[in-house]
Amino acid sequence: MLSYQHAYHAGNLADVHKHSALAWCLTYLTRKPKPLSYMETHAGRGLYALAAAEARKTGEAAAGIEALIDRLPPDDPYRTALAEIRATHGPTAYPGSPLLAQHLLRADLDRLALAELHPQENAALRRALRAPNTHIFQQDGFELALSRTPPEPRRGLLLIDPSWEVKADYERLPRFLASVAKKWPVGVVMLWYPLLRDGPHAAMTRRLKADHAEALCHEVRFPPVRKGHRMVGSGLFVINPPWGLDAYLDDLAGRVFP
Ligand code: SAM
Repeated sequence: MLSYQHAYHAGNLADVHKHSALAWCLTYLTRKPKPLSYMETHAGRGLYALAAAEARKTGEAAAGIEALIDRLPPDDPYRTALAEIRATHGPTAYPGSPLLAQHLLRADLDRLALAELHPQENAALRRALRAPNTHIFQQDGFELALSRTPPEPRRGLLLIDPSWEVKADYERLPRFLASVAKKWPVGVVMLWYPLLRDGPHAAMTRRLKADHAEALCHEVRFPPVRKGHRMVGSGLFVINPPWGLDAYLDDLAGRVFP
């Protein structure tokens, strides 16, 4: 298992949707001078090189972040963070969600706990995110999140970004989100899922909406990146969405995914 490597997909249209939402939420949550917990179940390697063979092979970043970044307003939190990270790591660097989060969080106040199971991805993540407030685990992300929920400090955000290689995840996720929400009623919980041509997510999102009536479900559709590619959109399901996230994502969708 674990054949998925995000290096082929980093910066694609789904990443633009997910990482914009994440950057907006963390910018919103860090406005208050209260500490935050940030957790990720499926972290990836943290830092990607869009000039590398993997990214060039699929062309997904070229059709994603590289084509679309100028459509975001200059003061957009994601656009700003990307520019700041590129000023340090170079113009073709691309931050995965953990690096984006570490950049936006406060080193002296907030804590990060990240799970990445793949040994090479985990080693790369450790190299990219070395910092005293960042704890990296080579462990199943679902187990890690449950074992640390509710986190200390209590305010915070959990990102769940599986590679969806395991079909059983579609059934597992509603149970997992229900457990997390019960143990951590104040946490912002953000799940990303792909919209695939044959719609395997539909039953899952029906169940999630029934379980979490106040949550935000935001989906965008886009053309497949290659002929025959199954992914035709990107979905986010957010429990306890910060105020204004829905308006931000609707504006983003109008600009980036018209
Ligand atoms: N969140 C990252 C980002 O946006 O930059 C991308 C993550 S990628 C979609 C999914 C990652 O999860 C892969 O690197 C894979 O090795 C890892 N993974 C797969 N199953 C896992 C599990 N059960 N626990 C932790 N990590 C897992």
